[in-house]
Amino acid sequence: MEWSRFHRHKWDQATTFAWKNFSSAPVRRMFSFVTVLGRAALPEDKLKELTELTQEMKSSYSAAKICRYDPTRRRLDNGDYDYNADNDLDNDIGCIPTLSLEPHLVQLMATSRDPEELRYVWRAWRDAAGRPLRGKYTRFVELSNEAARLNGFEDAGDFWRSDYETDDFEDIIDGLWAELRPLYEQLHAYVRRKLIEKYGDTIVPPRGPIPAHLLGNMWAQTWTHILDLTVPYPGRPSVDVTNTLRRQGYSPFDMFRLSESFFISLGLEPMPSTFWQKSLLIKPTDRDVICHASAWDFCNGIDYRIKQCTQITMEDMITAHHEMGHIQYDLQYRNQPFIFRDGANPAFHEAVGDVLALSAATPSHLQEINLLANVDESFENDINFLFSMALDKIAFLPFGYLVDKWRWEVFSGEISESQYNSRWWDLRVNYQGVSAPLLRDEDDFDPGAKFHIPANVPYVRYFVSFIVQFQFHAELCKAAGHSGPLHRCNIYRSAEAGRLLRNVLSLGKSRPWPEALSVLTSGRTNQLEAGPILEYFEPLMSWLESQNKDEFIGWQENEAIVLGVVSSNASVRPFSAVIAALKSPSRRASLLSSTFGLRVTDFETSPVLWLRSDSSKAVQKDGMCLREPWNVLRNPTDFRAQKPHTEFT
Ligand SMILES: [Zn+2]
Repeated sequence: MEWSRFHRHKWDQATTFAWKNFSSAPVRRMFSFVTVLGRAALPEDKLKELTELTQEMKSSYSAAKICRYDPTRRRLDNGDYDYNADNDLDNDIGCIPTLSLEPHLVQLMATSRDPEELRYVWRAWRDAAGRPLRGKYTRFVELSNEAARLNGFEDAGDFWRSDYETDDFEDIIDGLWAELRPLYEQLHAYVRRKLIEKYGDTIVPPRGPIPAHLLGNMWAQTWTHILDLTVPYPGRPSVDVTNTLRRQGYSPFDMFRLSESFFISLGLEPMPSTFWQKSLLIKPTDRDVICHASAWDFCNGIDYRIKQCTQITMEDMITAHHEMGHIQYDLQYRNQPFIFRDGANPAFHEAVGDVLALSAATPSHLQEINLLANVDESFENDINFLFSMALDKIAFLPFGYLVDKWRWEVFSGEISESQYNSRWWDLRVNYQGVSAPLLRDEDDFDPGAKFHIPANVPYVRYFVSFIVQFQFHAELCKAAGHSGPLHRCNIYRSAEAGRLLRNVLSLGKSRPWPEALSVLTSGRTNQLEAGPILEYFEPLMSWLESQNKDEFIGWQENEAIVLGVVSSNASVRPFSAVIAALKSPSRRASLLSSTFGLRVTDFETSPVLWLRSDSSKAVQKDGMCLREPWNVLRNPTDFRAQKPHTEFT
């Protein structure tokens, strides 16, 4: 609040100047930032409300816990867990929820190979973390929009996009995704086949979206934890050095020291001594903390800290590089005027540490620092390495886009409150090709079960960062004199690469980001380009195409085992609105009897069921459409032929 008052005071002063007529471009640029007030433009009572609301959502999320998976939990007659019972999942057997997201659920999602357990955890987390936020979020959206409009923006999404200082930002993102989608679809098709080998085609549909609980991650955002199920050439030295880190007795501090040594090898800054004293690198046992890793610049040129509940894994070693990249950027621009001490755009800030990690994770570097033995550059090892990188960098892309696509549409009013969850699943299916493993409805609030929604952190920066970090990597590799395939490049100890990186980072936000890109590329381009990331993965793309030649590429919604979206809103498009296509007889039985109140025996021969409620009743009972009587149609074309524009819930 105090910061907001100060900010407002500065704003009051700044807006008295006719700054747009000033002759100095940097000063005009400073004014253009100072005169945007953000949420501090709200009247004091609303500002207070918005601040408290955000705090409440964050605390609620970070305190969320679930019960242990208990296979003796109440079952339906057919043996399935009674997931669709009305009772609160955690209270019906009187258990005390003790498992928190980090580390417990993150680990469970990563390591469990029991689809029932995964499905339980997937759902219980959303019940505990997402659902309670739904009511708060609507008010949060109203207030955020009000603040944005007071700053002259159309809505809060428009305000967020202004960070990128371009009018066609959405078009740029759409264009990049269109270039990358074919690679994603190849990866998706290959992974789907491997999951069918593991779980069978009654759980994973051969031509459908992949059920979201089977990808090793709570949000299916990266798939690195199912490398064991999907690795192209098994039996070769693993490029995941987690076990070696543990065997060699690495501590969290050691991992951050390792990361620091990479920065120093490039001639960049070591971490200041306060960093080592004040950072929180191990999860405290005496209190709840938000474990989501973050890096902090206390803006006094001395105090920089990281908060990370570090586990000894390769993933966390990479995250250590990521977070330290933020601090390195902070250090590089610390001599800029205060208002320019920021990333050229938010994506640049996210990219720095990842750029180094692209080198640090190469087998040749891991060998160099004694974490990996005997790497040979055979074709099979190369493909294994690129594949493991793709489970992170390529698998992430659609999620990196859709989180904000959803929020932009919520802020603009295109998604109304009654469509929060169904539209979320529209995007999840259409962009990621993943489906909910059980029915969802509009009492659920699945977006809220992802940190950045309650914490109100914009997300598309990560998508852009994943593109731009490969542009950085390509240019730094060129500066380092690398020749050969881009994925083998390691810039460790290259002073030339370090100098180029410093030149870009030290600009901070003093110039628009296209100029920073121009510095990076020695004037060759000032655009975001998908070329380098595609070049990096080119050998993998060819390999995937040859592996997938008999595979269905892409996904059909109506092939989902459970396409778990139920919307009571009549305007939702028929195909995306709902529907359960139930291939597994036991799943079909449980859903049909417990959820729809239908008799199972009628449908045993039908692989796909299209269920439609009585539209008028469904609309009356917003959010409760599951309790309506359902008509069953043998296939969707019958339905469309009969009533092409009927309301569909
Ligand atoms: Zn970050």
